[in-house]
Amino acid sequence: MDVVRTVEQLRETIREHRPKGGIVGLVPTMGFLHEGHASLIRAAHARCDVVVVSVFVNPTQFNDSADLAAYPRDESHDVAVAAAAGATVVFAPEVTDVYPKGFCTTVHIDGPITDTLEGTSRGPQHFFGVATVVAKLFGMVGPDVAFFGQKDAQQCVVVRRLTRDLDLPVEIVTCPTVREPDGLAMSSRNVRLSADDRRSALALVRGLEAAATCVRRGQRSAATVVAAASQVMADHGVEPEYIAVLDPDTFAALTEVDRRAVVAVAARVGPVRLIDNIVIDPDR
Ligand code: AMP
Repeated sequence: MDVVRTVEQLRETIREHRPKGGIVGLVPTMGFLHEGHASLIRAAHARCDVVVVSVFVNPTQFNDSADLAAYPRDESHDVAVAAAAGATVVFAPEVTDVYPKGFCTTVHIDGPITDTLEGTSRGPQHFFGVATVVAKLFGMVGPDVAFFGQKDAQQCVVVRRLTRDLDLPVEIVTCPTVREPDGLAMSSRNVRLSADDRRSALALVRGLEAAATCVRRGQRSAATVVAAASQVMADHGVEPEYIAVLDPDTFAALTEVDRRAVVAVAARVGPVRLIDNIVIDPDR
């Protein structure tokens, strides 16, 4: 498996490995790869002839410079995980290659997709940063298919909107959230949790499970579902930054869980801000 730093090297590598008519898959990541990332790479490997894994901690999507500085990095580990999961090439550019001197284009996505929840907590700039780097990666790699994790549900909605609105010729595939055996959603940030924080972090998934149970028992009021989840989180000593019931395709808030819905949650646990979500279908 190759590791490349520049767009020229990347395009050359894709040309070398792509059979005639072959499908190119892209898995964008910020590195410190875990089993969640590996599942995306394996999904790409199963569908594509060439699998590009990008490893780039994108500074423009961080609203907190301390969070950016503390973001864990381990390139040799990332290369090993990507190779084992079936990547053809790891693309690990420098910040100055992605944002060279004079760079001044930003993709803005207006409205509730970017200004609620993560967009409120981290500022809409967060999703402008995400949209810009994803658009750039699509331009650099030229993928036929790109793979994203349901773990970042709002990001998936933003990327689908971006792709539709700009007519980008890329199919977006969303892969399920991979969890630790006790349910905690895998995240590169989990390494920053102390043993106590690690226990408290279960508040998020337990709250989401409580929400799902509530709906399974026939509850349809979003406010009641949210109250049930909040109570379980409070029992774990964690106060949510938000818990919301949303339309999975638009992220518009729902007052009734009368169709497929996403329950999304964010909370600070120790030094780390965690997010998680669950898809609930009341008809199943
Ligand atoms: P990140 O490196 O955190 O930016 O994530 C890169 C990609 O991996 C994104 O599409 C994430 O949604 C996805 N991802 C992160 N954690 C998980 C997980 N636990 N399960 C599935 N996908 C994940």
